[in-house]
Amino acid sequence: MELEWVDGSVDLRCPVCAHSAAQRRVARIDVPWRDELVDIVRCVECGAVVLGATLPPSMYTDADWDYYIEQIAGVNTIADTLVQTGFGRGARMLDVGCGYGFALDLARFLFDWKGIGLDPSIAAARGKAELGLDIRPGMLDDAFDPEERFDVIFSSEVIEHIADPREFLAAARRRLSPDGVLVLTTPDADAVTPDTPWTTLYPVLSVGNHEFLVNADGFERLLREAGFHAKVWNVGPSLRAVAAHHPGPLESVRPEGQTAVIDLVRYADERAASAAPGSALALGMATRRLKWAMSENMLDRASAGLPALRSALLDRYQIDIDDPESVVGRTDVPAVLTIIFFNLGLLRMWHERSPQRGAACFAAAASAGAAQFERHGLYQDPETPTVEALARGHLALAFARFAPEKVDAVLAELDQGMERGAGNTELVAELRARVQAELAVQRSLVKRTYRRARAIAGTMKRRLQNGVKSGFLAR
Ligand SMILES: [Zn+2]
Repeated sequence: MELEWVDGSVDLRCPVCAHSAAQRRVARIDVPWRDELVDIVRCVECGAVVLGATLPPSMYTDADWDYYIEQIAGVNTIADTLVQTGFGRGARMLDVGCGYGFALDLARFLFDWKGIGLDPSIAAARGKAELGLDIRPGMLDDAFDPEERFDVIFSSEVIEHIADPREFLAAARRRLSPDGVLVLTTPDADAVTPDTPWTTLYPVLSVGNHEFLVNADGFERLLREAGFHAKVWNVGPSLRAVAAHHPGPLESVRPEGQTAVIDLVRYADERAASAAPGSALALGMATRRLKWAMSENMLDRASAGLPALRSALLDRYQIDIDDPESVVGRTDVPAVLTIIFFNLGLLRMWHERSPQRGAACFAAAASAGAAQFERHGLYQDPETPTVEALARGHLALAFARFAPEKVDAVLAELDQGMERGAGNTELVAELRARVQAELAVQRSLVKRTYRRARAIAGTMKRRLQNGVKSGFLAR
């Protein structure tokens, strides 16, 4: 897909604020499934970005969902969003457009919330079976007419897919209990600028899947006009909103709230253990367990998960975590290996204190990241390119300890990687600085060791001479 930033004007009715007039065209994008370019338009009234030409959701295949379950589902971000609502234990939850159902599953695990998911996709059918959830194959329409009202109505990355968001919000409002909260997440329209890196912009736009994007002000206005009191905030290029019938429930909202990493590790543990051998879920959860444990330096917990991770990776891709060399140079490997081998490298290097074994893992991670780019002509998720750059930086750090002559070549690859989007200037500069510092430390270590060796040799020589003189050695 190629995107071109342009100026111009397009007549269009904004689906967010209903402003109907000449709107500002900001970009055009070339998509493989349409002959003409797709316009990206910004509403002059509310700042929403309006995208045309949506594809039917059936475009997603089982393989796409595997990739989601295995790697790209932001399970920790979903958990944080639940925590941020500040809602107590035991709530009744409705997840509209629940997809695979991670939010329902996390809510059950973290807060003992129980609920229903609505989603017509194949992902939902899989989540129902694989996570054991009450997921029904519909949406928030008249066909779904339960007796009860829900304490938490959750709908993540859904509203931007809906042609009439006002109708959607009215339907949610009717099913919300008097003190309940409606929790929404959606990409931020203000992230659509020429300054946003493509790896961020690509999923934000999701041309073909998204009808529109709102910015924070537009989102608040949309919710207010639908009869809600609302709090809206940013998390990176994404927006969070909690809305309620009255301001009371908003007092418990904590935009800075985060899930304790230990809880995430426990969740990943439970899910990795319950998943079918060889499944995307088994590998995805064992991978997340390692990543999360390493993010908090829980080295023992990370190590404890390695046997399960090893089996999951062998079962699914016949790749052995103990044989990172077998991955290097292969282009047919899944991107999840970038994350697995990077974290494994950290563990080998810092926990087991083996720069050699660490380097082998970092090389595998960097190679698997580059393979994703080579295979698809782009990075399909924002995590892989960043981790690929980190892996190269840590490979250079490891080499600085035992093979400093190889450092320059790795740093050159770090720069080449940045040109295709693996890491930005800031990250690469930081990694280079760390490598230079490490080289300096190693050089001074070598010097110190050399000096000490010479001093010891001198002492030995003197002792020997003294020994000879005293006749000690002659005996
Ligand atoms: Zn508008």
